[in-house]
Amino acid sequence: MTQLEAAKSQPTEEIRTVAESEGLDVEVIRRRVASGKIVIPANKNRKTRTVGIGKGLRTKVNASIGTSTDIADIDMEVEKAKVAEMCGADTLMDLSVGGDIAKIRAAVMDAVSLPVGTVPLYEAFALSIEKYGSAVDMPEELLWEVIERQCEEGVSFMAIHCGINRMTIERLKRQNYRYGGLVSKGGSYLTAWMLHNGKENPLYEKFDRVVDILKRYDVVLSLGNGFRAGAIHDSTDRVQIQELIINCELAEIGRNMGCQTMVEGPGHIPIDEIETNVILEKRMSGEAPFYMLGPVTTDIAPGYDHITSAIGAALSSAYGTDFICYVTPSEHLGLPFPEDVREGVMVARVAAYVGDMIKLKNRQRDKEMSKARRDLDWQRQFRLAVDPERAREVKGRRGDGDERSCTMCGKFCASDILAGMFEKYLEGSDKK
Ligand code: SF4
Repeated sequence: MTQLEAAKSQPTEEIRTVAESEGLDVEVIRRRVASGKIVIPANKNRKTRTVGIGKGLRTKVNASIGTSTDIADIDMEVEKAKVAEMCGADTLMDLSVGGDIAKIRAAVMDAVSLPVGTVPLYEAFALSIEKYGSAVDMPEELLWEVIERQCEEGVSFMAIHCGINRMTIERLKRQNYRYGGLVSKGGSYLTAWMLHNGKENPLYEKFDRVVDILKRYDVVLSLGNGFRAGAIHDSTDRVQIQELIINCELAEIGRNMGCQTMVEGPGHIPIDEIETNVILEKRMSGEAPFYMLGPVTTDIAPGYDHITSAIGAALSSAYGTDFICYVTPSEHLGLPFPEDVREGVMVARVAAYVGDMIKLKNRQRDKEMSKARRDLDWQRQFRLAVDPERAREVKGRRGDGDERSCTMCGKFCASDILAGMFEKYLEGSDKK
């Protein structure tokens, strides 16, 4: 029985854990899991940290790692996985396409307790290239085998590109443009496979088979966004929306079959289209959790895409997105190294928090930080910081670790000038 099926009659242990960690009522979580508004990745074959994703919960951050055909270093991937966990990522995706993909995935899953997601199409196409010389010659059965095997191994959620079908491809032809082409590896390889073989997407045509496999292990189906915009000028175009409509429909079908489902979103979007994308996904899917990939909000800042996406992630979270995928400073430039993973996770956590201040209306931590700053209580400030280590390091590097003020204003410290005067002259201001 999946979490969704079990939740229809009673709260599971995982539901109770989510309720406790989010400070919410068990019954509220149970109802939302039962109706598909919250998912809890809980593969029966791998015990992981329990993480709830969905309505009313803190926005969760995914960190994607994985090898490429150019850099396939298993030790570095394990290090990246550990860094992501240590920095507070909620989930991890292993998107390896180079080296021994199964071995890398096993090593990553051994190294961390986070739920680990994958895109099974990657391994299927990589195996096809190895065995048959090309991705387009992939036998359909290989794809099913890979999905089943990854489920058995304990993968917690899978991005599967079920929403690409002949209609989506026809929409792309009719639209007759895509400034950024297709940027999803899964989407692009699958489209090539369909065109080459003149066949419908098996993941769409046999959607019930996808659901049956994932349900057996209680793997969350993340309906992949293969035609996501990879360029600002392609955002919210007819092709992207076509796939979104299909994915939302499939999310409902999967949910009705007892499978936990969520829907993935783009990609590259200017900030004035983010809210529309969130509303569309929520309305059309019956509030299935929305997993936003970025969104990257301009195309012109390579090297700073952890920031362009943090702007988008904060807004999308504020509008109701449940799950964001971090972006590292190496996006569009190269495979991330461990230090990029660290930067990406921290920045994404800040973005998620900023969004949650609006979505969950919880600003208590900001109030505590304000008071700690006013009182020049540095230890409290460090404890409250998203990244205490970075905060300590920045202050310490200026050699003023023990100073009451900091080197920003030195002896002209505004907080020091008024120290103690709030209680004396502005009675009550400290009590609010
Ligand atoms: S020195 Fe300036 S920046 Fe530093 S704590 Fe005082 S007021 Fe704030």
